[in-house]
Amino acid sequence: MAGHATAVLTVDLDALASNYELIRVSVDGATVVSAVVKADGYGLGAIPTAIRLAKSGCQNFFVATLDEGISLRPAVPDASIYVLAGPEPDTTGDFRAANLTPVLNRHDQVQIWRDAAWVAGELLPAVLHLDTGMSRIGFEASEFEAMIEDPIWSQGIELSMVMSHLAVADDPDDAMNEQQRATFDQLREKLPALPASLANSAGIQLGRQFHYQMVRPGIALYGGNPLNQGPNKFSQVFTIQSKIIQIRQIDLPRTVGYGATHRVTGPSRIATVPVGYADGYLRSLSNRGTVSVDGHLVPVVGRVSMDLITIDVSALPESATQPGTSVHLLGNGVTLDDLAAAAGTISYELLTRFGPRMTREYLTRSAE
Ligand SMILES: *Cc1c(COP(=O)(O)O)cnc(C)c1O
Repeated sequence: MAGHATAVLTVDLDALASNYELIRVSVDGATVVSAVVKADGYGLGAIPTAIRLAKSGCQNFFVATLDEGISLRPAVPDASIYVLAGPEPDTTGDFRAANLTPVLNRHDQVQIWRDAAWVAGELLPAVLHLDTGMSRIGFEASEFEAMIEDPIWSQGIELSMVMSHLAVADDPDDAMNEQQRATFDQLREKLPALPASLANSAGIQLGRQFHYQMVRPGIALYGGNPLNQGPNKFSQVFTIQSKIIQIRQIDLPRTVGYGATHRVTGPSRIATVPVGYADGYLRSLSNRGTVSVDGHLVPVVGRVSMDLITIDVSALPESATQPGTSVHLLGNGVTLDDLAAAAGTISYELLTRFGPRMTREYLTRSAE
C-alpha cells in the first residue's frame, strides 16, 4: 500500500476510457461527447481523468467552478473547458487568462461577459444556459425572451452553444423528459443555428432525440448507473482497498462500537479496518455496509466511526482473516450503486465524499 495511507482508491483509467467509448458509440457521429469532471472528477481526480479522456479524443470538459477550470487547464491545454458557474464581475480576467468558456446563467452574467469582450476588443466565447425545468440556474423562458429583445444583447459574445439540464432523466418513463425537450426546442428557435446540449449520463439513455450536438456525461464515465433501476452497462472504474488492523475473538455476549448498536450473542470474530466517515465512508453505512474480503461479502457491524469500521468475519476461516488481510470497501463484489443504496444516498454523493486521506492511484495499460 502506497506511503502510509490506510486506504487506497485505485482508478482504472482504461475502464474510464472504455465507459467513454461506450457512450461515444451510442451517439451519432456528429454528436460530441464531452466529459463532466467537476468536483475533482467526482472525487476520482479531475486531472488524470481528463488527461486519459483527452487521449481517447475528448476535447470538451465541464467543471463547476472557476477554480476547478484554472487547475484543470494545464492538464488539457488544447481542450475547451466550460465553467458551469459562469463569470462574476471580478473574475473575467481569470476566465480569459486560463482560456475558460463560461456558461452564462443570468442576464447580469451576459452583461459581464459582454463588457469583458468590449474591454478586450475581441469576441469572447460562451455557452448560454436555459432553464427548462430545474428551477435552479439558467435563464427562465421569460427572462430569456426579454433579454433577446435587445438587438445587441450578445454583442461581443461568441455563443458556441445553448444548453439545458434534465431533472428526471434517470426515470425514462417520466413525461417531464419530453416536456423539457419540447421547451428547449421552443426556446432554441430564437437562436437558430446554435449547437445545443441537453443530456447528462441518464439523458443519453433516453435516445438520440436528446443528444443534439453535445452530450455531457459525468457519473456514467465513473461507473455509476445513470438510471435509477435496471442493470448498469458501465464498468466499475475504481476500487477502494484497505486492510484488517486488528481481530477481536468474542465468546461472551458483548457489544461493538459507539452506541453499542451491534450485539454479539454467539462466538464471533470482529475485524477492524482503518477507514471511517472522515474518509467518506458514510456513517449511514453503520450496520448496513458490506465489504469484500477476498471476494466474500461480509457485513459492517456497529457504527462507522471517524477513522474505523468493524466487520463481522465469523463466516470466513481464521487463516483468511488476519491482521494485514486486504479488504475491499469497493470493488471485488461491492459496487458503487449498491453501497450508495445501503447508505441511503446516490452514487454521486458517495463518490464525491471519498476524502483526501485515501491515496489515489491510477492504473493504465495504454502507453504513455
Ligand atoms: C453534473 C452535470 C452533468 C453530468 O451529470 P451526470 O448525471 O453525472 O451525467 C451534466 N450537466 C450539468 C449541467 C451538470 O451539472
